[in-house]
Order: sequence, then structure tokens, then C-alpha cells
Amino acid sequence: MTARLIDGKKIAYDLRSEISARVARLKSHHNLTPGLAVVLVGEDSASKVYVRNKGIATKEAGMNSLEFRLPANTAQDTLLDKIRALNEDPDVNGILVQFPVPDQISQHAVIDTISPEKDVDGLHPINAGRLASGHLTGAGAALAPCTPQGCVILARTAVGDLAGAHAVVVGRSNLVGKPVAQILLGENCTVSIAHSRTRDLRGLCRSADVLVAAVGIAEMVKGDWVRPGACVIDVGINRLPAPEKGLNDAGQLRTKLVGDVAFDEAVEVAGHITPVPGGVGPMTIACLLQNTIIAACRQAGIEETF
Ligand code: NAD
Repeated sequence: MTARLIDGKKIAYDLRSEISARVARLKSHHNLTPGLAVVLVGEDSASKVYVRNKGIATKEAGMNSLEFRLPANTAQDTLLDKIRALNEDPDVNGILVQFPVPDQISQHAVIDTISPEKDVDGLHPINAGRLASGHLTGAGAALAPCTPQGCVILARTAVGDLAGAHAVVVGRSNLVGKPVAQILLGENCTVSIAHSRTRDLRGLCRSADVLVAAVGIAEMVKGDWVRPGACVIDVGINRLPAPEKGLNDAGQLRTKLVGDVAFDEAVEVAGHITPVPGGVGPMTIACLLQNTIIAACRQAGIEETF
């Protein structure tokens, strides 16, 4: 069997088009332009690229993008004061602090300071709690983390109704593993969460109808871990040397991105599979924009459902 590719770029493009149309409606019907503030502390080059891309996508959707860059030696109190000011700013509907933050700043303190209503990354304990208690839609519902939402949209688009499916999530981080498991539970899947201490990981993965790999270990999930016909969602982004691509202008070996799934093997077994790149990655920004609209509507008391 050769799996069907789940085209994250196309699915994200469609979602972003829908988001742009909704932003246009909010402007014309309610005189509301949602605003997303992104805060970057320090000079991490990957983070700079992520922040720039988020800004571009926000503007493309017709929303206001505010970007704040603070130096690497910023004191925690200075950052928390900035977040509190953004919490109070009526033009800002969503706040995202790009992680990682420098060592002198506690990630927990940052997450706890962002107003849950503006927490478009969905990491605040109030949002994690609402997600865990199954409060997923309507007033006061969770703002759910973006990458996990993207994973589930991809799985649903590929295989339709997920009710009753056995979903195995490999990884239990607060950013990906745990929230994706909660959202799959909300889709009425039977969910197993696996991690570094799980016994017979291969056997568990082979029992999955939907297999989500969020580990951060290049190509860990092999083809014979995949049940024939399963839907495989690969969250991993790992950079490996690619000698076959030769050297770059600086004389260094070029690199390539691979996921947590050994794609060439798994594609022969799975029914559907996400590529890396071009699978889960593009969905993250699309879901961030979606969360920003949801936050803006709730703050303005406008009923706007997705
Ligand atoms: P993390 O390091 O916080 O968590 C990894 C999890 O994998 C841990 O819960 C750990 O228990 C588990 N794990 C580690 N070794 C294992 C093993 N041998 N067997 C089973 N489980 C094991 O990572 P994260 O933030 O959850 O990210 C996971 C991957 O997803 C990374 O590659 C990251 O780059 C990627 N990611 C991608 C996106 C995206 O937009 N596509 C977003 C976030 C993260």
C-alpha cells in the first residue's frame, strides 16, 4: 500500500482563506479588526524567522500585527510588565510570547501572566484546564494550542469522523502531546498517550488507527510500527545533515528537515500520512490566526463560530 499524502499546505491555505473572509466580515459588520501582539526576547535566529512569518500571515489575513522585540538581557519583571500592558490594550486581542525565552525568565511566569482570554497559544493553566474538562466551544471555552488543533484538523480532513478510533499520541509535552490527546478525546477517540517510559511502544503504535508522533527524535517511528491503513500525523521537525545535497556557500554540509516518523517506510504501510515539511507545520500559523479571531470575537461579545 502507498499512503495518501495529507497536504498540510493546501488545508492550511483553505483555512487561512476562510479566516481572511471572516476578518473582512468582522471589519464591515462590526468595525472590528483583530490584533495579534507577538513578543520576542533575544536574538534566536529560528525564533526571529517564526515571529516574522507570524507577522506576515497576520497582515495577510487582514488583521493588525504588533511586534515587540526586547533584548536578550531583559529582566523578567520588564517582560511581565509588557505583557500586563498588552493585557489591558483594547487593540490587542491575542498575545504570544515566542519561546524559548532567555534563562533569567521563567516560562511559567510568562504563561501565567498572559490573560487567558488573550492566550492564543493556549498554554495558560486556565485554558489547559478548560481543554481538559472538555469545554471546547462557546463562551468561556478553551483557547486550544495551535499545533495540536492543526494535527486534529489534518486527521479529520483525511479520514472524516474520528469517533471510536484508537488514537496513539507519542509524546506528553504540554505544548503538543497532552493537548492533542485532549482534543482527540473531544473527537470521541479512544486515546493512549505514550512516552519515553512506555513499554512495547512499537506494539502500542501498531494498534493505532490514528498515530500522532510528537517526540523530537528524527525518524524514530519505523514503518513496522504503523498499522496498515492507519492515519499518521508527524509533528516532529528535526534537522539532519544531508551529504547528498552537497555544501552551502559557507562550505558547510547542507541539511534537510525530517519528522519523527521514518517517512519512506511508513508511507508504504499507512493509509494517510503527513509529509515533513508541508504537513503539520503550515497548520500551526493558520490555527494561531483562528484563535486570534475567536479571542477577538469573545472580547467584543460577537458570536463567531468556526
Ligand atoms: P518535547 O521535547 O517537549 O516533548 C517530547 C516528548 O516525547 C516528551 O513528552 C517525551 O516523554 C517523549 N519522548 C522522548 N523520547 C521518547 C522515546 N524514546 N519514546 C517515546 N517518547 C519519547 O517536544 P515537543 O515540544 O512536544 O515537540 C515534539 C516535536 O514536535 C519536536 O520535533 C518539535 O520540533 C515538533 N514541533 C513541531 C511543531 C510544528 O508546528 N510542526 C510545533 C511544536 C513542536
